[in-house]
Amino acid sequence: MDHVDSLECVRCGAEYDPNQLRYTCPNHPGVTGILEVTYDYDIIVDRFDEPLDGAIDSQWKYRAFLPVEAEADPVTLGEGGTPLLSAPQLGAELDVDLHIKDDGRNPTGVLKDRASSVSVTKAAEFDADVVTCASTGNAAASLAGFAARGDFDCRIFVPEDAPEEKLAQPLVYGADVLGVQGSYDEAYDLSMEATDRFGWYNRNAAVNPFQVEGKRTVGHELAEETRGAVPDWLVFAMGDGCTIAGGWKGFREFADLGFVEETPRMLGVQADGASAIHDAFHEFDDVDAVADTVADSISVGRPRNTVKACSALEASGGTAVLVDDTDILEAESLLGRTEGIYAEPAGATPVAGLRNARENGIIEPGESVVVVVTGTGLKDAASAMRAGGNVDTIAPAIDDVADRYSADL
Ligand SMILES: *Cc1c(COP(=O)(O)O)cnc(C)c1O
Ligand SMILES: [Zn+2]
Repeated sequence: MDHVDSLECVRCGAEYDPNQLRYTCPNHPGVTGILEVTYDYDIIVDRFDEPLDGAIDSQWKYRAFLPVEAEADPVTLGEGGTPLLSAPQLGAELDVDLHIKDDGRNPTGVLKDRASSVSVTKAAEFDADVVTCASTGNAAASLAGFAARGDFDCRIFVPEDAPEEKLAQPLVYGADVLGVQGSYDEAYDLSMEATDRFGWYNRNAAVNPFQVEGKRTVGHELAEETRGAVPDWLVFAMGDGCTIAGGWKGFREFADLGFVEETPRMLGVQADGASAIHDAFHEFDDVDAVADTVADSISVGRPRNTVKACSALEASGGTAVLVDDTDILEAESLLGRTEGIYAEPAGATPVAGLRNARENGIIEPGESVVVVVTGTGLKDAASAMRAGGNVDTIAPAIDDVADRYSADL
């Protein structure tokens, strides 16, 4: 990995050998010493000979930027290369020039596949047999899919109230799914203890410095796809904060290398029931560590990547907003009915945040905006039914149909 310089602690700046250390900076108790991967861009650019306006078949187009050995055989299911769709109906409704990056179309239905692919490829480099993570559902399913693909044992810790469809998926992928009687934060702590004690390879948000690097490819793709017309704003939901941090890092790298001329401002959106990154960014004193929101994938009381997420917001000239559960479910149905995109609640959260930012004058009329939809709605039918309304029952009689539509027959 001659293109990777070091792992640098975001707290104390200490640097570590990327081939030696696996997780956080040992100078701090707990998981606070998050590490940032730093690169030698001369070497990367030498190796990056892909056309910047060609097809994006998968995120491995950007392999030169990923922290894996030159000879590594990627564990891949074709993640990345998701469509960037124009969204004229929804854009008209919110009075912006809108595009949507639909990352719900990844192999397991979630943007996290970009990270899982890199993590599992790293697990092979570190000679691990067992991979693990804690998850509200999506990271579990994603890791389990890639573990199956790479022939690893997969053991995952989920809060027992995670949506059932999200537990079904890793089970089908052959993972051991352990429903922890507690919150996501408790499941997370238990997965960290198991990692320490048994030496399993851990994909957890933020503590694994390599997993977030895979998420940069959404930024690389967006930079490539919007060259010549970089959007004013890029909108992400925030849970642990890894996704927005990775997306920003990828876009910024392409700007630093002169592949694009500008960078967008980042808008980070959280649910008001799980608002810790928003609260830290706006320097609220009283940060509430309890998490309660319908958007289970961002229901995080103690985010692990607040530092990197806040620096993405700050460096890009962006900001953070909050939305409530009603806004989120309304956004889920608005996105579906205006553009035919079916998102889970966390996936629709940026749409709710965009509406909030328009109403509060943060985003001006006519500005250009890309919303990243991070997860498909297919895994959470219960929330979708709350968002979508009811099925009307009718008799098997044509007159009932005629009555119903008499006005527009
Ligand atoms: C994990 C997840 C997020 C949030 O990502 P973080 O890196 O935790 O901020 C958003 N949406 C979906 C669908 C997710 O699964
Ligand atoms: Zn440190």
